[in-house]
Amino acid sequence: MRYRTLGKTGVEVSALGFGCMRLPVIDGDGDRIDEAKAVELVRRGIDNGINYLDTAFFYHGGNSEAFVGKVIKDGYREKVYIATKLPLGNVNCEEDVEKIFNEQLSRLGVDCIDFYLLHAANNDSWENRVLKFNVLPKLEKLKEQGKIKHLGFSFHDDLDVFKKIIDSYDGFEFCQIQFNYIDVDYQAGIEGLEYAASKGLGVIVMEPLLGGKLASPHEKVAAKLGSEKTPVEWALDFVWNRPEVAMLLSGMGTTQMVDDNLSYADKAEVGMLSKENLEMLSDAKRVFDEMNLVPCTGCEYCMPCPAGVLIPKVFSAFNKITEGGRRLVKEIFPDIETNASLCQKCGKCEKACPQHIGIIETLRKVRNQF
Ligand code: SF4
Ligand code: SF4
Repeated sequence: MRYRTLGKTGVEVSALGFGCMRLPVIDGDGDRIDEAKAVELVRRGIDNGINYLDTAFFYHGGNSEAFVGKVIKDGYREKVYIATKLPLGNVNCEEDVEKIFNEQLSRLGVDCIDFYLLHAANNDSWENRVLKFNVLPKLEKLKEQGKIKHLGFSFHDDLDVFKKIIDSYDGFEFCQIQFNYIDVDYQAGIEGLEYAASKGLGVIVMEPLLGGKLASPHEKVAAKLGSEKTPVEWALDFVWNRPEVAMLLSGMGTTQMVDDNLSYADKAEVGMLSKENLEMLSDAKRVFDEMNLVPCTGCEYCMPCPAGVLIPKVFSAFNKITEGGRRLVKEIFPDIETNASLCQKCGKCEKACPQHIGIIETLRKVRNQF
């Protein structure tokens, strides 16, 4: 394992971090973690040098933090840093901050959280939760009490909001952004990455595989990638290549994924990609962008829909139009038309979507096309 310094925290983190949001589950139920399998998997990562576990209040329907609490038993607490996040949407008054934080301590079974982040900060949550309910002074108090070691934020919004958040508060030591060879000028993008690093913030990258889309890209995208590396290795190397990146997070669900990613992390170096490699990835992005109608990562933050629309499934099927046309889509999801038509335009999903997809309008397009 290689280690890099996480900005002004000064902490040496493993180049690969374990994201605890796509763990093995029982009977396809995303909320029910297959704990025996998952504990073995995460500890396999730790035994091979991973020193950072990333969880959140909502992952796996609220079960991920308690799961991490089990992983770090048997002497593993001393081997890893624990990161979790404040669910800003649940902060409805000043008192909520400490209440939620204490619940997280109890779920994790710890008395201190190493890295604590505002979850998915955006312009709305910054103005209407963080500033309105004095979240930062509350977190500073917890830090003074030794219950938080380092404070940061994860981010999903536009570049100008990213800069505003960084410039508004000098207590942040690190941030977590979506970055991969497709999203170079989306959300924070390369400019945001460079901006955060220039201010001394450690940068952690999430979605290096764009919700798995870059692990098995469409054959037209894959055809652009050199055969000397797998699509996953090209995607991860693109992130590790950047000097501003301390660590990338991967939500690994199988032993194969863990072993593959460990072997890639073992070789990860800043500046490892040539000019030709970078041009190749930019070419792959061009093809990807032509085919990706809806930039849905399948994160399911929008779910459940009160009207029963299977939003990520509908979008996944819709994106397949570019692969196999309307007929293929109808074969995969025969009920897609009915499903998109259920939307009552309540807007709940759009508020939750970190990719800011115009879900209502896109569902309307799906309905019209089918
Ligand atoms: S806007 Fe439509 S798809 Fe979104 S949550 Fe409401 S009913 Fe469901
Ligand atoms: S529509 Fe948005 S919130 Fe829903 S799964 Fe896709 S990216 Fe996630």
